[in-house]
Amino acid sequence: MDVNLVLRSTRVITPEGTRPASIAVSGGTIAAVLPYDAEVPAGARLEDVGDDAVLPGLVDTHVHVNDPGRTEWEGFWTATRAAAAGGITTLLDMPLNSLPPTTTVENLRVKQEVARSKAHIDVGFWGGALPDNVKDLRPLHDAGVFGFKCFLSPSGVEEFPELDQEQLATSLAEISGFDGLMIVHAEDPHHLAAAPQRSGGAYADFLASRPRDAENTAIENLINQARRLDARVHVLHLSSSDALPALAAAKAEGVKITVESCPHFLTLTAEEIPDGATEFKCCPPIREASNQDALWQGLADGTIDCIVSDHSPSTADLKTPDFASAWGGISSLQLGLPAIWTEARRRGHTLEDVVRWMSEGPARLAGLTRKGAIEAGRDADFAVLAPDATFTVDPAELQHRNRITAYAGRTLSGVVTSTWLRGERIADRGTLAEPSGRLLERNN
Ligand SMILES: [Zn+2]
Repeated sequence: MDVNLVLRSTRVITPEGTRPASIAVSGGTIAAVLPYDAEVPAGARLEDVGDDAVLPGLVDTHVHVNDPGRTEWEGFWTATRAAAAGGITTLLDMPLNSLPPTTTVENLRVKQEVARSKAHIDVGFWGGALPDNVKDLRPLHDAGVFGFKCFLSPSGVEEFPELDQEQLATSLAEISGFDGLMIVHAEDPHHLAAAPQRSGGAYADFLASRPRDAENTAIENLINQARRLDARVHVLHLSSSDALPALAAAKAEGVKITVESCPHFLTLTAEEIPDGATEFKCCPPIREASNQDALWQGLADGTIDCIVSDHSPSTADLKTPDFASAWGGISSLQLGLPAIWTEARRRGHTLEDVVRWMSEGPARLAGLTRKGAIEAGRDADFAVLAPDATFTVDPAELQHRNRITAYAGRTLSGVVTSTWLRGERIADRGTLAEPSGRLLERNN
């Protein structure tokens, strides 16, 4: 095997732990993880990153790229540059907010065509499950989508209606028939409708309009459906920690359910959100500090499998100071790793934990067997991180299209010094290479 690159560091994070190592790369694949002082093969280039940590490139399975159709909100060019700058080497695009949504094979092809020349990192696609597209699910699965997203309450865009419980059962039965995966925005519409709906700039009013009970009930219903149909399901963006005991019990019982949470739920709290600051608005919402503590416990005990961004930007004009009408969505592609590392470290977690939650876990969720770990046979995708370096978030340095962020002005630990995709450096501090990402399809 011709080794063309050796990446050397005193801190390489492998599935067996962190150690000094030299990673030998051949043709974009990790050929071997060698001892630190291994001889560099003739013809190979040595890149020594010193004491910077080498992580497997992050896998972000929850990104709204909105391209084509709402490209003033985001796009494949800008989103994948932001991702690359943030140490992410693979993203999966959500099926909604683009026009068309990814709900038929024809629409999938449109999106793939748009993404192809713009992808700075590897990109795959989720399909969408709507009330009227059950017949499209199998063809989408065969065309390589990684699974199907559905909503149980209104999605915010009219072309992507939610499923009621009966429609959920029908779609789940269809999807489990080919062992597919359903990923679910779990908020119960009846609990949302019953909650007080007050417009205005007060965050407390917005929080009251999206109660924990809405999440808890939707998740309990989902667990029941998954159990009854023996279906594989995944809970998107868990915010309510009250649902953790039911999720842990379902997992212990063998229900095929996985769970993600997001950097904003794990690093920001309701108590600190200024009134009118709708860059903090998302659904479900950021909750109280005590809720956040419980989410970290859920990560520590394995109830929560992964942390992904739910990067969902919009133009500035849609982020009005009224929480009721402002677009909901937080942009954090470029900042998720340092945001999580800053908080994880404060709570006594290690970079190995972060890798488990942000690389390995999402890769496993998506069935991406070549991603998510530094070991022979996987893609040579790396995030190189200076874990002790700090920076203050300046929106002007963000690569995503609309430089709005809930993290502005925060000082974070962990600077991504370079990002590597299949053995090529695609980001070097703020400098991005030309697009070299590939379009991914589900492996099996
Ligand atoms: Zn989302």
